[in-house]
Amino acid sequence: MTRQTRRRVIAGNWKMYKTQAEARALVSALAPLVAQAAHCDVVVAPPFTAIVAAVEAARGSSIAVSGQDLFWEKEGAFTGEVSAAMLVDAGCRYVIIGHSERRQFFGEIDDSVHKKTKAALVAGLIPIVCVGETLQERESGATEAVLDRQFRGGLAGLTPGEFSRILVAYEPVWAIGTGRVATPEQAAAAHGFLRELAASVFSAELASALRILYGGSVKPDNIAGLMAQEGLDGALVGGASLDAKSFAAIVNCPTRK
Ligand code: PEP
Repeated sequence: MTRQTRRRVIAGNWKMYKTQAEARALVSALAPLVAQAAHCDVVVAPPFTAIVAAVEAARGSSIAVSGQDLFWEKEGAFTGEVSAAMLVDAGCRYVIIGHSERRQFFGEIDDSVHKKTKAALVAGLIPIVCVGETLQERESGATEAVLDRQFRGGLAGLTPGEFSRILVAYEPVWAIGTGRVATPEQAAAAHGFLRELAASVFSAELASALRILYGGSVKPDNIAGLMAQEGLDGALVGGASLDAKSFAAIVNCPTRK
C-alpha cells in the first residue's frame, strides 16, 4: 500500500456537557492555546444547544465545530432530531456518527450509521464514523469480526469520492470514559486491520489516505505514545476535551519525526 501523508485530526466530543456560556468560555480559552497547531485539524463537538455559541466563539480561529449526531431525513415529523442541513446552518463542518454511546443507549445500528453518513456527505459535512468492540467482544476474540461488520455495515456502498471525505474513529468501548486506554500496540493493530479492510472494500489508495482516529481515555500523558504509532492519525477525545488546557496539550503533542 503506498504510504500517504495524513494530516492529524484532534476532535473533542463534549457529550452532554457545557451550557452555551460554558461553551463560549471553553472555546475562547482554547483558541489561543492551539493557535500554533498548524500540524493538525482541531474540532470540538458541543451538544446541539451550544453549537452556535461554540461557532461564534471559534470565529477567526482554526477550531472547527462538529455535531454529535444527526438524522438522515432532510426535514419532517421527527421529534427530537436534527438534520445535516441544520448542522451546516448552525456552522458545523463535521458530525460524529455511530458513537458507541448512541449504539449502546439509543439503538444506533450499522444501517442507521450508513444512512446518516450518506446524509452528512450530501450536506457537505465531514462524518467522523465511530467503530469499536466491547470488552466482552475483545475477550472472546471477536474484535476483528465486530470491526468488519461495523465498517462494512456503515460504509460499504459509499462511492470512492464519498469515502475519501470521511474520517473513521476506532473507539474500543472498554476504553471510553473508563481511564483504561488501549495500549499503542492494541490501537495500532486495530487501525491496521481497519486500513486493510478499507483497501479491500474500496482501494489501496483510498485506504492509504484514510484518516483513522483513536478514541478511548486519551489524555495529555498518553497521547504521545499513541501518536508515535504510524497508523494513528489523531484522536477523538471525550473527558479530556472538556478542559482547555488538557485538550490543548493533546492538540499540541508534536508530530512524529
Ligand atoms: C469519546 O467520547 O469518544 C471518548 C473517547 O471519551 P473518553 O476520552 O472520555 O474516553
